[in-house]
Amino acid sequence: MSAINEALRAAAEQFGTPLYVYDAASITRQYQKLTTAFTSHPTRFFYACKALTNVAILRHVLSLGSGLDCVSINEVKLGLHAGFAPENILFTPNSVTFEELTEAKNLGVNLNIDNISLLERFGAAFGGSYPVCVRLNPHIEAGGNYKVQTGHIDSKFGISIHQLRHLERVVKSTGLHVRGLHMHTGSEIKDVGVFLRGLAVLFDAAGRFPDLDFLDLGSGFKVPYKPGDTETDISSLGQQVAAAFATFEQEYGRPLECWFEPGKYLVSEAGYLLVSVAVVKQTTATVFAGVNSGFNHLIRPMFYDSYHHISNLSNPAGAERLYTVVGNICETDTFAWDRLLPEIHENDLLAFHNAGAYGFEMSSSFNSRTRPAEVLLPEDGPLRLIRQRQTFEDLLAGQLA
Ligand SMILES: *Cc1c(COP(=O)(O)O)cnc(C)c1O
Repeated sequence: MSAINEALRAAAEQFGTPLYVYDAASITRQYQKLTTAFTSHPTRFFYACKALTNVAILRHVLSLGSGLDCVSINEVKLGLHAGFAPENILFTPNSVTFEELTEAKNLGVNLNIDNISLLERFGAAFGGSYPVCVRLNPHIEAGGNYKVQTGHIDSKFGISIHQLRHLERVVKSTGLHVRGLHMHTGSEIKDVGVFLRGLAVLFDAAGRFPDLDFLDLGSGFKVPYKPGDTETDISSLGQQVAAAFATFEQEYGRPLECWFEPGKYLVSEAGYLLVSVAVVKQTTATVFAGVNSGFNHLIRPMFYDSYHHISNLSNPAGAERLYTVVGNICETDTFAWDRLLPEIHENDLLAFHNAGAYGFEMSSSFNSRTRPAEVLLPEDGPLRLIRQRQTFEDLLAGQLA
């Protein structure tokens, strides 16, 4: 059995299930793939921490040299708590109040503003004294699930490129200093052409903003979920982005940094959700494997129709049979339909793969079931508990009955 499977079994043994386990070496590998792909042009990476905010993970990502992309003031505070310098934090919120934006400004982090009314207020209050980045909506369809696309015409995200003239007026009249332009067209983008089309739109817009330091292409790097899936070809993207910048900079007259905000790419494959099979239930239609977890712990299959690979760590060499793997929530709660898996018995240990991004982070205590513990498999040293399993007392905490 592979080293990672042994570590997972040991983690389940030591800490029980359901359990999230994160492999630090995998995060390091993914980060190094990114930095290697983008050596030809000055590029900075800001880990989009909404994928997984455990402070131990933030510290690991910090140790690799990454910055941090945050979407709420509390993520900003978590980042500062983990040790990120304010200038290495980018705050990219949407639908936030001016007060939340100002609080982030007072913490000294980079601001990415995605709304003209907020820019007007910010400019009126601070003029050009605090440079900002502006989030544009380039109206590029990223493909994939509509729920994870942000660049389409109905999207709430960003300022439409068709409003550039208005944006320019606001900037001129308030004296705002725009030092970056940003776009993020969604998640799971296979086609590097999507990034390059977006970059062309940013180049076009950049002509109106003479004081830029960077262009931020957001994220959306795809990782493989199913066997045979491909990931975004980032080394090809790195070369094409560098070439595009080289041409553009001659026109613009100055070098600009390229920024990215990878979330899933860094942490998805690093994470496993370990569950135990409570029951095997034969019905007239199928065989269910009912596990001690549910969409309260991993919502992606029910929310996005996502595929998560499953392995049976207790019986890896067993004969394959068809199963429907379900959770224990009183709701339709299916992890996988008609999945061929090595024969499952009650008490077997199953692992959901690619559970690092938007796994624990989107979990809840629905049905008054507690949230799992989290464990880090460090690059050296023993397994480390990095979040305690929720308890019954935690469910009562804060209630004033
Ligand atoms: C969610 C998000 C990301 C990360 O997206 P992934 O698909 O996880 O890489 C990056 N930037 C912004 C602004 C986001 O909202």
